[in-house]
Amino acid sequence: MSGLSPLAISLNFDSLNEAYGFPPGFRDVSFFTAFDRVAALAAKYALPLSIYIIGKDLEHPDHRARVKEWHDMGHEIGNHTWSHDASLGSQSDAVIREEIGRAHEAIATVTGVAPEGFIAPAWSTSRGVVKELVRLGYRYDSSVFPSLFMYPMVLKSLLSHSMNLEKGRKILGRKDWDLPLVSPLEPYFVDENFKRYDTFAEGRLLILPLPTRRRWQVSTWHTAGFFFGWKKHYRNVEKLCAKRDGFYYLIHPADFIAPEDLSPQYQQHLERMDVPIDEKMRRLEDVFKILAASPRGVSTMGRKAQFLSGQAV
Ligand SMILES: [Zn+2]
Repeated sequence: MSGLSPLAISLNFDSLNEAYGFPPGFRDVSFFTAFDRVAALAAKYALPLSIYIIGKDLEHPDHRARVKEWHDMGHEIGNHTWSHDASLGSQSDAVIREEIGRAHEAIATVTGVAPEGFIAPAWSTSRGVVKELVRLGYRYDSSVFPSLFMYPMVLKSLLSHSMNLEKGRKILGRKDWDLPLVSPLEPYFVDENFKRYDTFAEGRLLILPLPTRRRWQVSTWHTAGFFFGWKKHYRNVEKLCAKRDGFYYLIHPADFIAPEDLSPQYQQHLERMDVPIDEKMRRLEDVFKILAASPRGVSTMGRKAQFLSGQAV
């Protein structure tokens, strides 16, 4: 063993249901055909997934059945808020409590286990978010974006909503502008006031920042490969596997959804739908191979967090 914590794969389950605005009764292919593509790859390399579910997706009984199945298969089910509000961090304590708490309840009801991991939509976090996670007894949170790349990313999102002043105001209202400048790149602990610590203690939450090799560079998650080139991306993944205790690999359903999965009656623009599904799955397999070959092993985010908190795994 390398002494570093196990690797993990974090799947932020940004569903088509959410992208389409939660049409009543919508049965989302991302829970079925699309998920099965990534599940087959994960099974081939014996990799568990940590899947962060949007609470509102669980209103459909078929989605609930799928999530229960994934839990029973040994995948971890985490919390990705109730309605995927991309301005979570700029919301009031009451809205934050509702967004996190309602999904928390819904997931616990489906799996029989309270989720212990969280990620905020668009990495939009705040002291209020952390306070609520500590209150609910969460073990870890992966909502911190520790790279300067957050600023152009927010700008891009602002430009894409330039016709909507209210949305723009909310985007600019995020309260975590300092994190790309001050957040450590390796995991750390925070108390309910977002004060940082090096060691675990009761009432502290483990922060697993988005894996980033250098603060001024783009963070390393699957999307980066599509934008900045695969050769460089694979090399970054290998380096992070070899050296970074906090490294985990973040993927999204867009990485395994095919254009033919999309419903023609919904016209939303979805990212990465111009990439053929065969290529998408080949890229994912290339990375899964790198992860599976690491002496660190691949576990769930929850077990990685246990390890990093100094608790027996
Ligand atoms: Zn999301």
